[in-house]
Amino acid sequence: MSTTWHILGAGSLGTLWATRLARAGMPVRLILRNTERLASYQAGPGLTLVEHGVAQTYPVSAETPDTPEPIHRLLVACKAYDAQSAIAQLQHRLAPHAELILLQNGLGSQDAVAARQPHAHCIFASSTEGAFRDGEWRVVFAGHGYTWLGDAARPTAPPWLDDLLVAGIPHEWSIDILTRLWRKLALNCAINPLTVLYQCRNGGLQAHPCEVATLCAELSELLDCCGQPAASQDLHDEVQRVIQATAANFSSMYQDVANLRRTEISYLLGYACQAAARHQLPVPHLRAVQARLVEQLVARGLPSD
Ligand code: NAP
Repeated sequence: MSTTWHILGAGSLGTLWATRLARAGMPVRLILRNTERLASYQAGPGLTLVEHGVAQTYPVSAETPDTPEPIHRLLVACKAYDAQSAIAQLQHRLAPHAELILLQNGLGSQDAVAARQPHAHCIFASSTEGAFRDGEWRVVFAGHGYTWLGDAARPTAPPWLDDLLVAGIPHEWSIDILTRLWRKLALNCAINPLTVLYQCRNGGLQAHPCEVATLCAELSELLDCCGQPAASQDLHDEVQRVIQATAANFSSMYQDVANLRRTEISYLLGYACQAAARHQLPVPHLRAVQARLVEQLVARGLPSD
């Protein structure tokens, strides 16, 4: 019997992983916030995944953090700002050398978790899969993609990647996961905040080429300064390609703000500006965008961190 996949957070990505693992016959247990959320979940038939327009429901078992069983493998599928406190609730259940797979976007939350869990194996992930919730306990698989997983301290791929293969979760073990996370952070910093400031789809940034180019130049310099030269290579070219290829899409940050949801700004633009400050690297345009974005968030009554 393979190790149970405990999944912390039954939101978009948590459900996407839980349903695919469960339908492949893997043991899966969802960990929900509290007894109210558990009661709400248990009042229904399970988790529903809508794929290619077809909805399928899976009766995945669920529990609260108070359940006593030890956890050997935990997929952390919360937002970056919730990850540390959500894992802390499970401290007493984490087996020595438990594996924590961290799906959070951006940077900062992974190191914060790793510092609090020195005995755990923290595996960082970067995913281009896309999913959104269109109802309680129901998720639409919106964008097929790939998930890269890696552990800066252990270059060898763990044997449980076979579970992902069986479950049809496209993935690759990456020996340079930090490069991938930094590159994704830089792409995000060059595009997402501007889509909020200009209230436009990604393609709308084609009307602001100088601003995009200036941000890319600062981000490239920052990546080099942070020892991430591979992540800085041809950044501006890729940003332009992404803007073109996703011209009709609204960025995730745009969608968060439009739906009055908290953004992950502290783990994206905030993290970049803090890293620049640590290296005493002037990034006036990134800082100006951060200040304008914070202003917008505050004006809408959203947290600015
Ligand atoms: P989401 O839909 O908001 O789901 C987060 C889930 O975490 C929610 O179900 C929330 O519970 C749960 N949660 C928060 N605190 C918890 C706690 N203490 N105990 C138990 N559950 C808790 O977020 P998401 O879109 O899946 O994103 C997760 C991460 O993946 C983010 O960092 C995001 O940037 C990244 N990501 C997402 C996508 C995507 O397409 N969605 C793609 C790539 C990367 P409630 O339901 O009770 O609020």
